[in-house]
Amino acid sequence: MNRIVIIGTGMAGYNLAREVRKLAPDVSLTLITGDDGRFYPKPMLSSALSMGKTPDQLATASAEEQARSLDARIMTRTRVTGIDSAGRMVTTDRGEVPYDRLVLAVGAEPIRPPMEGDAADAVLHINNLDDYSAFRRRLEGAQRVAIIGPGLIGCEFANDLLKSGRGVAVIGPDPHPVSTLLPAAAGQALQQALGEAGTAWHLGTTVKGVSREGEGYRLALANGETLSADLVLSAVGLRPSTALARAAGLEVNRGIVTDRLLQTSTPGIYALGDCAEVAGLNLPFVQPLLIGARALARTLTGEETPVSYPAMPVMIKTSLHPVTVAPPPREVEGEWQVEAQEDGGVKALFHAPDGTLLGFAFTGKAAAEARSLIAELPPLLP
Ligand code: FAD
Repeated sequence: MNRIVIIGTGMAGYNLAREVRKLAPDVSLTLITGDDGRFYPKPMLSSALSMGKTPDQLATASAEEQARSLDARIMTRTRVTGIDSAGRMVTTDRGEVPYDRLVLAVGAEPIRPPMEGDAADAVLHINNLDDYSAFRRRLEGAQRVAIIGPGLIGCEFANDLLKSGRGVAVIGPDPHPVSTLLPAAAGQALQQALGEAGTAWHLGTTVKGVSREGEGYRLALANGETLSADLVLSAVGLRPSTALARAAGLEVNRGIVTDRLLQTSTPGIYALGDCAEVAGLNLPFVQPLLIGARALARTLTGEETPVSYPAMPVMIKTSLHPVTVAPPPREVEGEWQVEAQEDGGVKALFHAPDGTLLGFAFTGKAAAEARSLIAELPPLLP
C-alpha cells in the first residue's frame, strides 16, 4: 500500500500533492490542515493591499475545489496532535488517520517576543489568510500603523501600507533594514527610499510595551521614546513549526532535520517547506519548496530523488525601492564592493578572495538587472 498523508495545505503541502498526482494517478492522497484549506499565494499577503485585492480575492481555490482537482481527501479545520511512527498513525482532534508515508508541511510560526502593557495581546501577527483577514478588518479607519521588525516582511508591509496612503513607523534593534540579508549600503538605500515615502524609522531600539491609548495604542520603546499608532503589526520573524516532530521523536535543529531525500530521522516521515531543515539549510521561501516538492514527489512514488538547489536570490517586494539579494553563505571569507546608482540604489557584489562571486544585493532600478548574475553564483546545494 502507498497511502500518502500530508500535514499542511500551504504552498508546500499543495504543491507536493500536485506533483505526486502528476506521477501517480492512483495513489491514495490525504491532506490534513488546521485551516480552511483554501489555496492562496502567501507572498501576496504583504502586497495585496496596494494591489486592491481583498483577502477573499487572494484565495484561488476552495478546499473542495482542491480536493476535486487533486483527487485527494482534504480534512480541513483538523489539527494533528500526535504521530505514532511505529504504528504509522496520525492522531488528530477528529480521530486517527493511518499512513504509509507521512509528510510534514506544517510551515513556520511567528516569533512573539515578550512585551509589557495592557495591549500586548492586540499586536497583530500575519502568517496566514485568517490572520490577514483580521488585519484588513482592523485596518479600516486606521491611519498610523506601527510595524515591529525592520526585516524583509516588515519592510514589505511598510511599502504596501505607504502605497495605500497610511503613515508607517518601523521599529527594531537592527542598524539598518533587512540586516540579516543585506549589506549596510543596500539596507541604507532601502531605508532612505522608504523614509522619503513617509516611514518613520526607529532603529537600534526595541518595543518594551504596548498600552491602550483612546481608540489606538501607545508603544514604549527601550530607548525611552514613545509612539502612538492606530494599529500595531509584529513582523519580527518566523520560527519553523517543530513541536509535532519533536514530540514524535524526530531530530530537530532549527527546523525538522532531513537529508537530501527530505526524509527525517524516522524512516517513512518526510518534511518540506518552511518547517524543514534540508541538509543543514532552512530556507523559508517559495523556490526551495517548489524544487523540494518535485524531488519528493518522485521519491514518494518510487524513484529516490535527492534535492539540489541552485543559487536562489530573493526578490524583496518593496516596489517603492525594489531589492534583489543573494546573500553570501554565512561566515564565508570575502568582501562587499558597492557601487552607488543615480536613483539612490546600489549594486553590491560579494567576492571571495580568489575573485569568485558569492553574493549580491541590487536595489532600486538596478534590482531588475540582478537576474543576469544568478548563473555566476555557485549552487546552494550542488
Ligand atoms: P505554510 O503556508 O505556513 O503552511 C503550513 C500549513 O500547515 C497550514 O496549512 C497549517 O494549517 C498547517 N498546519 C500546521 N500545523 C498543523 C497541525 N498541527 N495540524 C494540521 N495542520 C497544521 N517567499 C518567497 O519566496 N517570496 C516572497 O516574496 C515571499 N513573501 C512572503 C510574504 C509574507 C507576508 C510571508 C508570511 C511569507 C513570504 N514568503 C515569501 C515565504 C513563503 O510564503 C513561505 O516560504 C511559504 O508560503 C511556506 O509554505 P509552507 O507550506 O511551508 O507553510
